[in-house]
Amino acid sequence: MATLRQQALAMVQARQRVPVIPPASKISDFFGTNVFGTSQMKQSLAPSVFKKVMEAIDRGSKIDSATAEEIASAVKTWAMSKGVTHYTHWFQPLTGSTAEKHDSFFDMYAGMEKFRGSALVQQEPDASSFPNGGIRSTFEARGYTAWDPSSPIFILEKTLCIPTIFVSYTGEALDYKTPLLKSIEAINEASVAVCQLFDRNVRKVTPSLGVEQEYFVIDKALYAARPDLVMAGRSVFGHIPARGQQLEDHYFGSIPTRVKDFMMEFEIEALKLGIPVMTRHNEVAPGQFEVAPIFEEINKATDHNQLLMDVMDKVAEKHSLKVLFHEKPFAGVNGSGKHNNWSLITDTGINLFQPSNSARENLQFLTFLVATIKAVYDNADLLRASIASAGNDFRLGANEAPPAIISIFLGATLSELLDELEKNGNVKIEKGDNMYMKLGISKIPEIILDNTDRNRTSPFAFTGNKFEFRAVGSQANVGGPMTTLNVIVADVLKQMLKDIDKEMNGGKEKKIAIVNVLRKYIKDSKKIRFEGDGYSEEWAKEAEKRGLSNLKSTPDALDVYEKKATKELFERHNVLNHIEVHARHEIMLEDFVKKVQIESRVMGDLALNHIIPTAILYQNKLIENANGLKGLGLDHSAAVETIKDVSRHIESVKSNVSAMVEARKRLNKEESASKRAKGYQKEVKEAYFDKIRYAVDKLELLVEDESWPLVKYREMLFIR
Ligand code: ADP
Ligand code: MG
Repeated sequence: MATLRQQALAMVQARQRVPVIPPASKISDFFGTNVFGTSQMKQSLAPSVFKKVMEAIDRGSKIDSATAEEIASAVKTWAMSKGVTHYTHWFQPLTGSTAEKHDSFFDMYAGMEKFRGSALVQQEPDASSFPNGGIRSTFEARGYTAWDPSSPIFILEKTLCIPTIFVSYTGEALDYKTPLLKSIEAINEASVAVCQLFDRNVRKVTPSLGVEQEYFVIDKALYAARPDLVMAGRSVFGHIPARGQQLEDHYFGSIPTRVKDFMMEFEIEALKLGIPVMTRHNEVAPGQFEVAPIFEEINKATDHNQLLMDVMDKVAEKHSLKVLFHEKPFAGVNGSGKHNNWSLITDTGINLFQPSNSARENLQFLTFLVATIKAVYDNADLLRASIASAGNDFRLGANEAPPAIISIFLGATLSELLDELEKNGNVKIEKGDNMYMKLGISKIPEIILDNTDRNRTSPFAFTGNKFEFRAVGSQANVGGPMTTLNVIVADVLKQMLKDIDKEMNGGKEKKIAIVNVLRKYIKDSKKIRFEGDGYSEEWAKEAEKRGLSNLKSTPDALDVYEKKATKELFERHNVLNHIEVHARHEIMLEDFVKKVQIESRVMGDLALNHIIPTAILYQNKLIENANGLKGLGLDHSAAVETIKDVSRHIESVKSNVSAMVEARKRLNKEESASKRAKGYQKEVKEAYFDKIRYAVDKLELLVEDESWPLVKYREMLFIR
């Protein structure tokens, strides 16, 4: 009988292309057709109702029950015209994925389809199985979902999906969206106040986000034949193939046909959902790709990223492919991240991170730039914690990009400009002087625009008119890191305004007051700026000298949530109270433990059920061979050597797996989540993963190819 591996490989050879037929030749003809968006609402709602919805979207005003009733009715009519039979509240619990519970529109007693305003606005899903970090005791395990009108309702697979927040009976956030929405409010408030120094017309500032999503694609049959990919999302064994990414021929190369078909189809589905996908290309590693949308308001962009991952997953199935969103599905080639391109945009249409021709706007630009740098410096540990996960540790902690050390890349021009500004502390500005000229601020635009130098190794880079947070993991819900970023920048902006006011109260002219504060902040936060190679050994040493943290593992990174300052920061901006911060910390620790536990179990099972039996069969063959040679009086030393090697590796696998199981048993008795997580890191992962893998990967090289049970790296990465 053929092994599962051989069967899978045969299936891949027999694959046919699945034709993709776009619904129309122009994207504009089908963009957003599955969304109850602004134009759809305008069409189907009475003008007074439409106005109320728009107010709710723009200003967060409440929607009364009569209005909700009208919206629900219009949504139902629209949805039913598209063959929809069910509806669901769509939310983002702290599991990291999205959740839905479908209800039918059909009301048996009424004998017709119904959708009430109350069902649109609020639901009470049986939420006891979602992580809550101890917020709810089981007897009160009730959670509520409440409609978020600022993110559009959409149709996915004949189901009407209503984006909602998810909170406990007592009002604590149990999801990613609730704090994100609050952080948007916090940064809006703080940014508007600072903008008022420059332009009285600014009433609203909104964070924007464009998420570049990296992922791997492999054939479904190969995936199914790798229990580690199925259970843990990453391969725990597998020898690096002869050819990895060293030829650098995959990046921006032509996209393999089946993958291209898959991309075209998921893009069509995404576009119908109003997700503005824009760019597709190969990534650095073989089998790795990227998709990027046009940036949007941050709440929508976050929902869209979650939804996009869902859509990709579903469409891949049709093409007999599997998308791997794990940060490190394969050792030895690059992992996947999610670059978060973030900026702040005013309701007057100004991107606050865009240098401009106007000197006044440039001072404003510098104010927001410096505030962000200071925020990242002051809260580097918190930012690091916001992207901590078992999967992301394989990128951040390892010799791979970006490092666990948080630093900011600005590019030569801006870097020099800030240095100048800091040094020019003594420039005397007389009345009638052109301050902007004197400080060199007037000439930012031309230089920056031609100067698109990029540093791909930086975890947090300024890229012309936005910051790019690159250390976010590829499977993460970006709501977590984006909430943190919004809050820390809001916090510094608030402080900055106070400091500027103080200068002004001391008699300084406004512009001078601003410049003085900027100088101080530039100086204070200088250590976070780094323009060199972020992957290098030297940087790790240099960063240590500078006193920057290098928190390589999740359990260590998460310690920052225990700090009083962290709890106060989130509380001060009404984003999370201290109970919620504590709960999140617990959930993240639990998640880490579970992930490492699963990987450890998969390793043990595969080693004992697949690897060792295969190796022993091969060993027996070798023994037979050696005895045969001996009987003939021939030299059998090579056979004996190989037998010794195989035996040694089998022994190593066996003893290490046993010891690892013991370590797990010991740690499972540990009560403190933090200690358990740290134990899993040190005593399970660090102590055994590499050792076991080393021996198994050696056996893969020794044992005859034909009987090896696991699909090999070269097969997963290169066969499509
Ligand atoms: P890269 O060179 O890193 O691939 P791109 O220029 O292609 O970067 O842009 C990456 C992402 O940044 C896209 O999603 C794009 O829409 C987004 N983006 C561009 N400008 C802004 C901005 N002002 N704010 C937020 N995101 C932006
Ligand atoms: Mg990028």
